[in-house]
Amino acid sequence: MAQLTDDCFAFSGPLLRLDDMERLIGERIAPVVETEKVPLHGARGRILSGDVKAPVNLPPFDNSAVDGYAVRHADLRQDGDTTLVVAGRLTAGARYNTSLKAGEAIRIFTGAAMPKGADTVFMQEDVTAEDGHVTVPRGLKLGANRRLAGEDVPAGATVLSAGTVLEAQHVALSAALGVTELTVRRRLKVAIFSTGDELVEPGSARGGAAIFDSNRTLLTELLERLGAVVTDLGILIDDPDKLSARLRQAATGHDLIVTSGGVSTGEADFVRKAVETIGNLVFWRVAIKPGRPVALGVIPAGAKHSAAFVGLPGNPVAVFVTFVRVVKPLLRRLSGARPDKLVPLPVRAAFAYKKKKDRREYVRVALKRAADGEIEAIKHPQDGAGILTSLTETDGLLEFPEDVTTIEPGARVGFLSYAALMG
Ligand code: AMP
Ligand code: MG
Repeated sequence: MAQLTDDCFAFSGPLLRLDDMERLIGERIAPVVETEKVPLHGARGRILSGDVKAPVNLPPFDNSAVDGYAVRHADLRQDGDTTLVVAGRLTAGARYNTSLKAGEAIRIFTGAAMPKGADTVFMQEDVTAEDGHVTVPRGLKLGANRRLAGEDVPAGATVLSAGTVLEAQHVALSAALGVTELTVRRRLKVAIFSTGDELVEPGSARGGAAIFDSNRTLLTELLERLGAVVTDLGILIDDPDKLSARLRQAATGHDLIVTSGGVSTGEADFVRKAVETIGNLVFWRVAIKPGRPVALGVIPAGAKHSAAFVGLPGNPVAVFVTFVRVVKPLLRRLSGARPDKLVPLPVRAAFAYKKKKDRREYVRVALKRAADGEIEAIKHPQDGAGILTSLTETDGLLEFPEDVTTIEPGARVGFLSYAALMG
């Protein structure tokens, strides 16, 4: 399904840096080509496949930005108040067909079309109105409180560009322009499964050495947030032949297969070998912590199509981090979305930290406002990659770049909220 070539991730070196990985994804992966038209309600979360041009001006006509009095600026005295005759009343949606004459004002309300001849609006708070007259002060600029036709969007302008992940505001802008449907890329089809002899389904009987599978739940939620249609293929035991067979099957009808567990170098880590057997493993170690063993490959499905494959580590926190930093960029690229603009926000570290050079590290932190008003990041006391509560009890991740090795308390560091990471 996915437009991948077997060597799409070919690279040399033992550990792939995240920025190299992102560049390779951009260069070597082509988005799905199929598109569909969707009504505005239902477009949120979808990926726009082409630019949208404004069919009309927005706003469509000059109108008042306030409740007040529309006047001709030329009538106003420079040296003091001006008293004008109130010649009519214009509410939003109403039309005033005659032109404003010299010495006249029109009572006007927000959103009402500017009457012909009027060019400026006084706010009602700034005037005195009595007996069919209004007295306005001096000094208001020509054009004040008037919204011009097309000042938001001129007709013909590109308002939304291809690759936009549609949000409420994009849909609202489409509606304001009278657009009723949008052309989006088709949803990605993603198959997931967990691997591990120790895993059982939550709710089922659990032997003494078993744990409930949480990674499939995590992956399903994360993938669906990003608009993918998920096929849940359950839990697979650590058996190389079964894994290969299941992977091969899953490659048909899916753009991407995401698994968790079994990708490190342990004796029961068969996922990597299975991918090597039936497809092409293009890298399996990324310079990221938590999560270093991440396998990325391509699994052919028939002569024309291949599915992308990502094998995530088994530990739940490593699954989360590698999902947002590896799977998400891949998924966005496949889906035709523009690369994510993730900007870490500066906060103050409330702890000391040491890390290896040449590896990007993510630290789970809660935010707190310190006594001096600064936002401080407090590291979760448990930083094991298996500690799920370290994700539920924190607000996001600090991102420590490759070249950094020491973080001192008080250092300015980059924070990424969970909402930003998952969006
Ligand atoms: P692995 O990468 O297969 O060696 O797994 C690393 C750790 O993650 C082990 O402690 C596994 O039991 C745990 N793990 C693997 N898969 C899952 C899962 N689906 N849900 C929860 N924990 C898991
Ligand atoms: Mg395992």
